[in-house]
Amino acid sequence: MSKATLHIVNNLTRQKEVFTPINDGFVGMYVCGPTVYSDVHLGNCRTFVSFDIMYRYLLYLGYKVRYVRNITDVGHLLDDGEDRMAKGAKAEQLQPMEVAQKYANGFHHMMQIFNTKRPSIEPRATGHIIEQIEMVQQIIDNGFGYEANGSVYFDTLAYAKEHPYGELSGRVIDELKAESRDLKKQGDKKHPSDFAIWMKADDSHIMKWESPWSLGFPGWHLECSAMSTKYLGETFDIHGGGNDLKFPHHENEIAQNKASCGCTPARYWVHTNMLLMNGKKMSKSDGNTITPQQLFSGESEHITKGYSPMVVKFFMLQCHYNSTLDLTDGGLQAAEKGYYKLMDAYRALTQLTSTSESGSDDEKLNGMLDTVVTEMSDDFNTPKALAKLFELVTEVNKYKENISDIRNVGSDTLDKMKKIFFDFLFDIFGLTEPGQEGNSDKLDGLMSLVIDLRAQARDQKDWPTSDLIRDQLAELNIVIKDGKDGTNWTVKNS
Ligand code: AMP
Ligand code: ZN
Repeated sequence: MSKATLHIVNNLTRQKEVFTPINDGFVGMYVCGPTVYSDVHLGNCRTFVSFDIMYRYLLYLGYKVRYVRNITDVGHLLDDGEDRMAKGAKAEQLQPMEVAQKYANGFHHMMQIFNTKRPSIEPRATGHIIEQIEMVQQIIDNGFGYEANGSVYFDTLAYAKEHPYGELSGRVIDELKAESRDLKKQGDKKHPSDFAIWMKADDSHIMKWESPWSLGFPGWHLECSAMSTKYLGETFDIHGGGNDLKFPHHENEIAQNKASCGCTPARYWVHTNMLLMNGKKMSKSDGNTITPQQLFSGESEHITKGYSPMVVKFFMLQCHYNSTLDLTDGGLQAAEKGYYKLMDAYRALTQLTSTSESGSDDEKLNGMLDTVVTEMSDDFNTPKALAKLFELVTEVNKYKENISDIRNVGSDTLDKMKKIFFDFLFDIFGLTEPGQEGNSDKLDGLMSLVIDLRAQARDQKDWPTSDLIRDQLAELNIVIKDGKDGTNWTVKNS
């Protein structure tokens, strides 16, 4: 099967480009993670599900991927200048770290409900203060930062003399000047478009660290610059986030990286579009909002019934990550039908067998199968790949109804069809079959128990028991592999 050349819309160049990684066979991908001061909302879920599917597709294409997604637990300020974490802590009478843990746990749980893969590294801003202080120092040393009253600001005018500030977002410094003159106090900044990279903390601030400039905390944009550099290098392949992060967050990240080491951090900048509800931005203040739990249970005035997480995920897949997605009850109902239709066809497909070596339908089916991959390789176009799978669903349903027609399909083609369905539904889209949702954590727990019991048997040189466990698991299509980092398991594609 040809795996079609991957093209990605790169927001840095505003072009659709062939994806060529810096190191052949390897991909470094950084995605801005959540600010853990409140429950994760559906819009966040859309963004992280989209990047999970990109991660899964890169793995499918055979790349070894290092996927870094951070947790913001300090420095993300509200418009009034208050730290989001500190505000959350005050409101709930908790320690800021308790708030961070509580909502990070909630976020992980939600990511598990949506059956997303864990990133390779999930660094926290508070765990990388030293790296951030070092970066501030480099920026100052290179002449792009200045200190004022214990805080350090990024000098956008000095920077703009050597580098194009605004290359990602298209924002122009003079426009920023006009915007910020109305909206904000300039304070110690030399220019309204300058931004804080280190902030002096006042006495009431709980989260603060020693630095050469003051007892304070890093600016929000800095953590992603410092952590992406640390784990992926000065220049890596893909940087992602929601498109509301393009400015100022990503623009400032690029500026900080260039100002400290002279490199643009990432080559491909990918942004997901926003989730809307009933055509309007989801917003708490005008009641146009729904939590994932309400969506699953149906307890909301905006929907007529509950929808399972996989139906919601299928609903997300029907829209390209680059377009806005409008959540409506009607759209969810249609997604529910589509999800069951696809899963029913998959079940039917697994039951089909062919004894023919080749058949008259082979050419047509192989062509259709190839287009599923081609569409997905066209900037991760999940709706088009799904549409192609649904054309195949029609074919599968025809064979199901007229079973003797399956002789027109060669066994290799049928196997390929089964493989494409399996790969796309489960490995790439990360869907689960109806009724199996939410069981992945139970399976994980069960498998670690079985692996522990096998390890005990091996310690006691009880080889028959150890072999019995391995062989019985193999019969269930679960393969266990012993390596230097312990025992891993995978479910084999049957
Ligand atoms: P935050 O926790 O606010 O930093 O957001 C985490 C991620 O979710 C960021 O990449 C945001 O761009 C993204 N995000 C926030 N709101 C939405 C939305 N309504 N639709 C899609 N993505 C969103
Ligand atoms: Zn970020």
